[in-house]
Amino acid sequence: MAERTLTIALAGNPNSGKTTIFNAITGTRQKVGNWPGVTVEKKEGLVVKNGYHLKIVDLPGTYSLTPFSIEEIVARNYILDESPDVVIDIIDASNLERSLYLATQFRELDCKVVFALNMMDLAQSRGIKINAAKLSELLDLPVVFTVGNKQKGIDELLTAAIELALSGAKTPQKRKVRYSQEIEKAIAALEQVLSDRLEGVLPYNARWTAVKLIEDDAIIKERLAEAAPAQVETVFEAARQQRSYLADRFNDEPEIVTTDERYGFISGIIKEVMTTSTLQRVDISRSIDMVLTNRFVGMPIFFFFIWAMFQVTFTVGAYPQQWIEAAFALLAGAAGYLLPDGILKDLVLDGILNGVGTVAVFLPNILILFFCIALFEDSGYMARAAFLMDKIMHLVGLHGKSFIPMLMGFGCNVPAIMAARTLESKTDRILTILITPFMSCSAKLPVYIVLAGGFFGARAGTVIFGIYLTGIVLSIVTGRIFRSTLFKGADAPFVMELPPYRMPMAKSLIIHMWDRSRIFIKRMGGVILIGSVIVWGLANFPRYDGVQAAYTESSQPAQARLVRPAVAVEAQPADPAQDTQRRAKAAQARHSLLGRIGHAIEPVFEPLGIDWRGGIALVSGFVAKEIVVSTLGVLYAVSDDPQADALQSALRAAGMTPLSALSMMMFVLLYLPCLATVAAIRRETGSVRWMLFSITYSTSLAWLVALVVYQGGLLLGF
Ligand code: GDP
Ligand code: MG
Repeated sequence: MAERTLTIALAGNPNSGKTTIFNAITGTRQKVGNWPGVTVEKKEGLVVKNGYHLKIVDLPGTYSLTPFSIEEIVARNYILDESPDVVIDIIDASNLERSLYLATQFRELDCKVVFALNMMDLAQSRGIKINAAKLSELLDLPVVFTVGNKQKGIDELLTAAIELALSGAKTPQKRKVRYSQEIEKAIAALEQVLSDRLEGVLPYNARWTAVKLIEDDAIIKERLAEAAPAQVETVFEAARQQRSYLADRFNDEPEIVTTDERYGFISGIIKEVMTTSTLQRVDISRSIDMVLTNRFVGMPIFFFFIWAMFQVTFTVGAYPQQWIEAAFALLAGAAGYLLPDGILKDLVLDGILNGVGTVAVFLPNILILFFCIALFEDSGYMARAAFLMDKIMHLVGLHGKSFIPMLMGFGCNVPAIMAARTLESKTDRILTILITPFMSCSAKLPVYIVLAGGFFGARAGTVIFGIYLTGIVLSIVTGRIFRSTLFKGADAPFVMELPPYRMPMAKSLIIHMWDRSRIFIKRMGGVILIGSVIVWGLANFPRYDGVQAAYTESSQPAQARLVRPAVAVEAQPADPAQDTQRRAKAAQARHSLLGRIGHAIEPVFEPLGIDWRGGIALVSGFVAKEIVVSTLGVLYAVSDDPQADALQSALRAAGMTPLSALSMMMFVLLYLPCLATVAAIRRETGSVRWMLFSITYSTSLAWLVALVVYQGGLLLGF
């Protein structure tokens, strides 16, 4: 067996079947992580084939290799820095023209490339014929037909890749992308300067480097400056001259000219290798699109799908939710029975089980939501949704693709912020991440139910709808403001791709769903656990003597407390033993660190009509928004069950008015997102500064809006 490990990188457009082929090759032997320094997913697998050890690396899906998005930079840097033995470019044969752009860029890079013409089944059903031998000859590289989801052609593909990898020293390329005379002249001139000045230190092949200099590629210029700091200025000067000459000559940016010419080269190839039989051109996708992206019925159908998605997420999710609640109640019961009364028991029941349970019950919703989204994505509908929303999103200075994360924000902001990964430009991604938290997530709903239900009676529904609407409007306004200040003119050019509809495969749906949920489970479990324990600790220390007395009075063991505010496991509120207990807890809270903090921060909340208990509830809501309700419950010494109107009457008795309730709801809608979301913002923007900015902006806005609502309301005499 050969000792050497061959590295094979898989590249290709998004949706070309990369993941499918990667899974077909590596099976279960894969390692998933992130590329160093960025949040783009990195997959690796080790396999043995024909006696060779192969390391398969799944590069991020990209349409080109210009340093335009993180994915493109990651893919290109990997090939430049790690020099894999072979790159397999997975090409959607039913969409040859689009795929060939990336392919020609690989060709220019002078790395060893094998083409996998995937989705041959689709191409055939559309009457597309591709002459592989001709394509192979024109681009001077091996071409293999595959059908990823049926595992066809995978062996041949690997065999061709191994053969190419072992094929001795780098063979000089016979076929290149040819540019027009003017460009070729500029390339030749720069190649000359490069070999004169950077002889021996030039990190990449000279022709390619020259092309990149013509395109003014910032990353390559940086790399050259690192490689030869002394001589690089002359090279840059020569590049500047060539660029301004070309710009003058073509009356356009040189990088636009090279792009155009590459497309010209590609359409030439297409003419040579592809034939389409007109007989079978009955394009099913196009007929479906006549309806789904129709100007009049497209939107209603879209809203129906979205409504159905949330409906399924919350109704179907409710069943497993009950089981999880029951399981946690059981756990709490067992812990309550086994542990002696006292601080440890409190920690386990109130701190750990209550906190983790609060999040765990959302798992089914999240799985279902992600399943629906995977269904939309894999079938090709998601692209249509983005297409439909494009016009509206342009109001915010974003395009339709940003709508998907915002939509998911109504469920939970964490996956929503993760979904912003699909956006190509970094500024679009950050802008989307900053406005998504104003989409009121499902965890805030219990707070609205308690406050609107308690203070607005029959009009509660309208009030809650108004709150959601306020969130949407403020996210659009914020988007507009940020677009014209922080992210000026950074609107990335974007062509809405409408991939053909496909029948989604169960296995790929489940993989997609699981891929996303796994991260959620792992990270959120940790964050929530620690956060809840901290809030619990703050509310329970220093110990208040009255509490011990109250505990000994009540012989009743601390019952399994509610897992989620909306569904209380607790017995009748009238139970005097429990009532004593609640009073004891309230007394403890008042004298705890949390209570002291509450009094310290009271001046901040007073102008908003919110008292110290409300203030604490809001502060502890940072851990998870549901905790706002349960904290209010503890502080007002009532059952935390929002359905029971005990809390509501306690709030009224404590002097809360409809106006201050409204102010508090506005604050909850807008103020800093929960801990898990903040962690997601930090992770996905890759910067603590954006995280701090988001926290500061949202909280200031919340305070201002609540102030205007409350003080304005007072002035108007409410
Ligand atoms: P990626 O974005 O490149 O990773 O694409 P995926 O591997 O997720 O594939 C996108 C969709 O295409 C999935 O639903 C696959 O099941 C499907 N798919 C992959 N290869 C083929 C193929 O050869 N033929 C057909 N008809 N579908 C395929
Ligand atoms: Mg994929």
